[in-house]
Amino acid sequence: MMRQTFLYLSHNKGLRRWMETSRLAAGLTGRFVAGNTLEAAMGVCGRLHGEHLLSTIDHLGENVTTAAEAVEFRRSIEDVYHSIAASALPHTVSIKLTQLGLDLSTELCRTNTDILARMAAEQGSRLEIDMESHEYVDRTLAITADMHAQYGRVRCVLQAYLHRTEDDVKQVNRLRIPVRLCKGAYNEPASVAFPSKASVDANYLKLTRMLVSEGSFPAFATHDPKMIEGALDAVAKAGRKPGDFEFQMLYGVRRDLQSKLAAKGYGVRLYVPYGNAWYPYFMRRLAERPANVFFLAKNLLRA
Ligand SMILES: Cc1cc2nc3c(=O)[nH]c(=O)nc-3n(C[C@H](O)[C@H](O)[C@H](O)COP(=O)(O)OP(=O)(O)OC[C@H]3O[C@@H](n4cnc5c(N)ncnc54)[C@H](O)[C@@H]3O)c2cc1C
Repeated sequence: MMRQTFLYLSHNKGLRRWMETSRLAAGLTGRFVAGNTLEAAMGVCGRLHGEHLLSTIDHLGENVTTAAEAVEFRRSIEDVYHSIAASALPHTVSIKLTQLGLDLSTELCRTNTDILARMAAEQGSRLEIDMESHEYVDRTLAITADMHAQYGRVRCVLQAYLHRTEDDVKQVNRLRIPVRLCKGAYNEPASVAFPSKASVDANYLKLTRMLVSEGSFPAFATHDPKMIEGALDAVAKAGRKPGDFEFQMLYGVRRDLQSKLAAKGYGVRLYVPYGNAWYPYFMRRLAERPANVFFLAKNLLRA
């Protein structure tokens, strides 16, 4: 119920405008968001690298409404790649295709994505293409497959809560596209998604085994110790080495687990968001864990 409420609120434009411009914002978001600027994000990623944690950088924002905004957003991601090249660190970049114009035209979005995928390949970095709500899955996978065929160096994201994902895993495994497997963060209807946590978890473990046995460099994006254990069990049985896969987690979530896995020699990449448009991202994090609401309330009282 609380989860549904936060996911519902994440679409409220008035509240979003108020929250994102509020002076309280920095105090609220600091745990999950690296800062307002690319410089702040690069500073955080540099520090994480010193702690043996990898990063994928996310310039916050979704669903642009004009072609000019989509191009402006793409340019901001080009700047991220320039900063990564200057740092000479192995960061990647995560984007959402609605940031690059997917709601406006598939061709506009493909053109913008193409420029970024080429940059990622030229730099030996990677473009990680987040998955949004279920209406976008077909178009997102089609563009990702095109970029993979042309440049390599992309990663697609699949969500274990969707019924269709088992078929998608088979398809991307055939195409050798690296996958980030997550549970899924959107408010999806029962017609497309498993209804209970137990069924999503069971599917996550099943898909994990499929990715370990047939996939290319999978990433297990979860903070759930049971999912992590399942992945480690599957890789041990398949004889995969730590360099054949990685774990991914969100900046600010389960820092203890992040350090523990990194200390054991596993690749752990953190999703590091930055920028002013933090509200929908932040609300999804609250929806995932009701205890975060107490953290929010504590910070509001402090401010
Ligand atoms: C690197 C990365 C990239 C992602 N990309 C996408 C994407 O492209 N599309 C998409 O739909 N979703 C994405 N997600 C979100 C994902 O789908 C889940 O909503 C989120 O990761 C929570 O699921 P979980 O596997 O951690 O399991 P859960 O069962 O939700 O949580 C397991 C445990 O993890 C901890 N935890 C989880 N979330 C939080 C939180 N917000 N705050 C504090 N503790 C928490 C708690 O201890 C909890 O008990 C991504 C997640 C990660 C880590």
